[in-house]
Amino acid sequence: MAKKIISEKVERFTESVIREMTRLAQMHDALNLAQGFPDFPAPQEIKEAACRAIQDDINQYAITWGSKSFRNAIAAKTRSYLGLEIDPEREITVTCGSTEAMIATLMAVINPGDEVVIFEPFYENYGPDAILSGATPRYVTLHPPDWSFDPGELEAAFNDRTKAIIINTPNNPTGKVFSRDELGFIAGLCIKWNALAVTDEIYEHILYDGATHCAIATLEGMRDRTITINGMSKTYSVTGWRVGYAIAPPHLTEAIRKVHDFLTVGAAAPLQEAGAHALSFPASYYKELARAYQSRRDLLLEGLAGTDFRCIIPRGAYYIMTDISAFGAGDDVRFTRYLIQDVGVAVVPGSSFFSNPLLGANYVRFCFCKRGETLHAATERLRKISRPKAGQSR
Ligand code: GLN
Repeated sequence: MAKKIISEKVERFTESVIREMTRLAQMHDALNLAQGFPDFPAPQEIKEAACRAIQDDINQYAITWGSKSFRNAIAAKTRSYLGLEIDPEREITVTCGSTEAMIATLMAVINPGDEVVIFEPFYENYGPDAILSGATPRYVTLHPPDWSFDPGELEAAFNDRTKAIIINTPNNPTGKVFSRDELGFIAGLCIKWNALAVTDEIYEHILYDGATHCAIATLEGMRDRTITINGMSKTYSVTGWRVGYAIAPPHLTEAIRKVHDFLTVGAAAPLQEAGAHALSFPASYYKELARAYQSRRDLLLEGLAGTDFRCIIPRGAYYIMTDISAFGAGDDVRFTRYLIQDVGVAVVPGSSFFSNPLLGANYVRFCFCKRGETLHAATERLRKISRPKAGQSR
């Protein structure tokens, strides 16, 4: 029998559509409201801290699971923001972005036959993460407009084989912020079925209209079965630094550190030093971050008001899912190409966030982590699309 050159696992997923949209945006000179990264500078203090660390010769490997100063800063910030006491020596793994934290966590705990519950729509990476780690995904629907789940459906997704549930709150792409009650219900199922909660909380500070962040690790019975994933990218506007971390009880951290060590050895040492500085910012920094994002969100919502993009208002994170059915397109991927090539605005097709692409065919996702002028220019272009014209050119 002929040898298969490419891994069967790898053949089961495509390259990232989110990142492909950025390349297309560059190719067509479109405004990029696709991939979630800021087009404004990171805080001056952090940039200086990073330059200083390089000048101070912090240019060799840090301890594989993270420099002591950064882990101490993570523990201190987690204590003050979430009220969680974590041991920086035994419960933190610093990784190359939260992306690595997620895959290293899954690789550390999944065995053949294990199932992982994933809310759908979901951040694109979780699909390939499940495949690469060998987990069988069980999808549970989040229903618009509030993206609530049906407790019966969630309950039915758990069984003896359930190893973990992946939570992402505040949520990408929906902007849902899971309530304490919802997380309590999820916690009950994790405890009943002896399952882990793997929770991606990278948007923890990006909250609107008085929404509050609840970390499932703080709920009763969850501390020892939760892996909390986070990173610097979104909170400090440094998505290209690739500095993330996983917080987990010692027995899980030990396993995650082993995987992490052989995957990447470690995250950039000088950037971890800058991270230690960033994570000691006062509470006012996070308040201002949320305020600034709320005004960017409102700018985009206002700009899209009166167009055929029906916005589902997010309560957290920095994306807006829009229903595009009024355009009569029925094909989110073609519609996105039209937006990039003819209108000059890049978005992410909704199907990237669903296991069955048809479920996302009537959505596109906008991100608004952009300067006011970028958002203005984008909505000016989008407001020119008239329904019949968009329909015809499709
Ligand atoms: N989280 C961002 C998004 O969804 C980008 C993530 C990435 O490309 N690594 O657009």
